Amino acid sequence: MKRLSIEERLGTDKFLVDDELPHITLDKNICNTCADKPCVKACPAGLYVLQGNEVSFDYVGCLECGTCRVVCIPKGLKWEYPRSTFGIEYRFG
Ligand code: SF4
Repeated sequence: MKRLSIEERLGTDKFLVDDELPHITLDKNICNTCADKPCVKACPAGLYVLQGNEVSFDYVGCLECGTCRVVCIPKGLKWEYPRSTFGIEYRFG
């Protein structure tokens, strides 16, 4: 059996994106005061991207693992599960 790369595995997931209610939102005023920005390194889906000193984020593609919620020390993000029927559907393990 062929061993899949992380990108190939992520490509098998299916997302139903809730365009009306993001399940993760950032407070940029708090995020801008965070020196380490651990979310950038910790998110397995690579959804937090450092642009200069600011973090840009898109909740589309979120694996709902909760890692960012745990590593965010200044609590600049609000994290909830997506509304019912929205979010990720794992199709490979
Ligand atoms: Fe990334 Fe997991 Fe946070 Fe989703 S819950 S944004 S996949 S770290």
